[in-house]
Amino acid sequence: MRKRLIAVILLALVAAPAPAFAPARQRKLPKPGWNMFSKSQDIELGKEYAKQVEQQYAVVKDTELTAYINRIGQRLVQKGRLDPYPFFFKVVHDDSINAFALPGGPMYVHTGLIKAADNEAQIAGVLAHELSHVVLRHGTNQASKAQFAQIGAMIGGALLGNGSLTGQLAQLGIGLGANSVLLKFSRGAESDADLRGAYTMARAGYNPVEMARFFEKLEAEAGGKTPKLVAIFTASHPNPGNRVKAIEDQLPYMPRGDYNASEGDLKKMQTAVARLGAAPKPKSAASQASGQAGGQGTASSPNAPKPANVPVSSRLKDYQGSGFSLSYPDNWQASSAQNSLTIAPAEGLVQGNVGYGIIVSAASPSSGKVNLDSDTRQLLQGMAQQNPGMQVVEESQRITVAGSPALVTKLKSQSPFAGNTEIDVVITVDRGSSLFYAVCVAPEADYSKFEPLYQQIVRSIRFQ
Ligand code: ZN
Repeated sequence: MRKRLIAVILLALVAAPAPAFAPARQRKLPKPGWNMFSKSQDIELGKEYAKQVEQQYAVVKDTELTAYINRIGQRLVQKGRLDPYPFFFKVVHDDSINAFALPGGPMYVHTGLIKAADNEAQIAGVLAHELSHVVLRHGTNQASKAQFAQIGAMIGGALLGNGSLTGQLAQLGIGLGANSVLLKFSRGAESDADLRGAYTMARAGYNPVEMARFFEKLEAEAGGKTPKLVAIFTASHPNPGNRVKAIEDQLPYMPRGDYNASEGDLKKMQTAVARLGAAPKPKSAASQASGQAGGQGTASSPNAPKPANVPVSSRLKDYQGSGFSLSYPDNWQASSAQNSLTIAPAEGLVQGNVGYGIIVSAASPSSGKVNLDSDTRQLLQGMAQQNPGMQVVEESQRITVAGSPALVTKLKSQSPFAGNTEIDVVITVDRGSSLFYAVCVAPEADYSKFEPLYQQIVRSIRFQ
């Protein structure tokens, strides 16, 4: 008997799909993922963005309508036992069927959504789903993964008072425009928000299935007569597939009840919406949370040609950072944001993107202690997810940097120089409570020329 064969068979047994008649397994309730922002920064961001939203949108003053939406929202927050954030709920006079929540709690519900709902549970369903995005911190999680190096630098600066967080995010091309990483969710995030939202509904006395039914109704609408009305919602909350079934499968595990919660008369509220008359046009198309006019954000796709020559001085100068030091060519510039920096030649920067150079930063995992393998994997996964076409060229290898355990991983992605790919060598260093990292960048065609320099710079790193 070959032991190996047994192992293979056992594996096959474990991996076999459950028979169709077996009840679905209980899914674990999702928790917030990796995030470079703190909870209080989520709240701060939400407050700043809420000001922008309220300048752009007609917030409905009707007290009855606003109070109704708030009662539904607060019922979900309290009975759903959601993490404490400063949640508030406002109604926006806009015909599209949409609602959106900003990081840290502010939520806006379009009048179009109130009009389109068949019952209160459907409104509660959208709210519960949005609230889940807030408590699971999906917006800043996605932003962290999209541009972790720059955000590490930015947060370092913001903590020390370098302007508003939203202003700094805007410099990275992150805002509230269409396709913003803060408001456009992955299918995984959608599935998690559905599940978390369904539990929240059940606890609050609403039938969780109504959330999925409403989403299916929107999907049908998208293929119907007025696709524009649902375009924003369906684009920013992509269907993870089989929404109704996924929720029905989990129903046996949710708190049971009559599911007959009611905070008011929906028909009466729909009449109140009708009384508001025609919705005003949004004041500006450029930066709006629901992205109606397709504002492009400021992230550019630069067309700069690759410079013919990037000068590298053989004379080095020292850089003293907070907790570390290193040396770099004296004709390159080090632009620092306190605990992080970009070292690059002037020719290596393209509209804030690094085409040649090194970005150095640090991140603190929420657990308080670095796990080098998994924290590195998360960084890299995030990079890959957000950089279509990014590939691992060489798997992570163990090295030491200034005596600390480290990993080096070689990736390939698109260069900011037109028509070029680039090599990104990511070095992650376990510094106990923080993950120190350096990303060395050069166009693929030139990387071998720059590699000795980058190695020299990494070797010069000292921790204090
Ligand atoms: Zn969603």
